[in-house]
Amino acid sequence: MKYVHPDIVVGEPVPEVEPRVNEVVLAHRLVWIRVLRWVVALLLALVIAFAIFRVSMMVRYVAAGVFYVGFLTWAFHPSVQKNRKKHAADRWSIPLRVEIRFQILLGLVISLLLILLMTGDGISEVGPYLGMMALFGGGALICMSFVAREPGQICCVDCEYPLVGLTIPCACPECGRMIYDASWTTDRARVRSGWFVPVGVLAAAFGGLMVYSSFANPGLMYGPMPRGVLMQLAPTDRDAFDELVARPMDSMQTDELIERLIAGNEGEDGWGYSTTNQQRWLAQFAGTGKISWDQYERMYGRVADWVRIELIDSGRGGGVRVGEEAAVRLISPRYIRLADAGVVVRYFFRGFEIGDDPDLKSGSTSEHYLSFLDGELGDSAYQYVQRASFVPDEPGELMIRGRVVVAMLPVQWKTQIRWDDPDGLFEVEPAWWKVIDLEHEIEVLP
Ligand SMILES: [Zn+2]
Repeated sequence: MKYVHPDIVVGEPVPEVEPRVNEVVLAHRLVWIRVLRWVVALLLALVIAFAIFRVSMMVRYVAAGVFYVGFLTWAFHPSVQKNRKKHAADRWSIPLRVEIRFQILLGLVISLLLILLMTGDGISEVGPYLGMMALFGGGALICMSFVAREPGQICCVDCEYPLVGLTIPCACPECGRMIYDASWTTDRARVRSGWFVPVGVLAAAFGGLMVYSSFANPGLMYGPMPRGVLMQLAPTDRDAFDELVARPMDSMQTDELIERLIAGNEGEDGWGYSTTNQQRWLAQFAGTGKISWDQYERMYGRVADWVRIELIDSGRGGGVRVGEEAAVRLISPRYIRLADAGVVVRYFFRGFEIGDDPDLKSGSTSEHYLSFLDGELGDSAYQYVQRASFVPDEPGELMIRGRVVVAMLPVQWKTQIRWDDPDGLFEVEPAWWKVIDLEHEIEVLP
């Protein structure tokens, strides 16, 4: 590709020219840069807000979806698109710094969008993406230092020595190349910039280190971090956590870490597979009194919000009628995910109290697995679901009540609960338990 300047006349001095910038493409890039700056700011604010408020995966998907559709709608709008193709004819038709700014902003948008979709597993998850971006960005910058050109003065095609004032044909004063006509010149001189290579090498080295450390050797990145930073990251970042607990800790620091782990995983997405190491570490304190009742409450108390009594759909439709059999069950509509902190959380069910009927149905004094609460018809767990059928004998409101006790039991226990014993529910007091009284009102049709 030759960039021959139209102003060159053989036999006349080479004039000083305005850099031949493609104004249309330049305007297009400047509009993008302006918009992308706002987009980056918006995404950054979202990423930070989502991290602080620990939003659910659904909110993240919706936000990313809305953003994606909005951005594409803008980017493919005819007024934005119309000049895009003209750019291909002359790759180096705008100042290089504008193009670099544009590419960096685009890279930031892609990175931030990826980070937005992460569940908050800390920088160990974000690290590889940022590292990859830095690696490729740095590599691109180094390549640019050899090939990148931009609009400028008319110069020698070989050595980019400016030819302003010389009369063609002549020999290049710098390299001696004979310049017979305009085809031996260019006004797209290579960009000789001192910072391309050093910055590119630095970025690539940083990116490479980040990628390497996040896959092969997390300690490399976390090792130099002070304890305070690791404490901040430890609740959701496994590698930061591992580095922190590998260092000696006194009793107060242990208490702080326990509290941070519990506070950091209270949300709906807390205590997943990614926090396995944190849960194992917490397990060593089970039964030692190091974890308080309140802390156990925050780890396990959320069960109370989930478990409830539900009418089993008869399949006949039209609700419950006098003289027809109906059935209720105990259910948790969502999978109950709790910290596996060296104890098992089980529940006891006293039985369904249907209307004024003094007989409790389906209750027992034995413990049950929480995971059976979300059993569906057809699951193997469904046989363990507490359910009871009844035949209403009069129309109107029918109240169904039930008492659930959730308790934190050491693994080896087989515990019975004493529902009506004045000495207390348990023979040996669990470290934590919670009584949940449930009510569910049913409309009985005549
Ligand atoms: Zn030359």
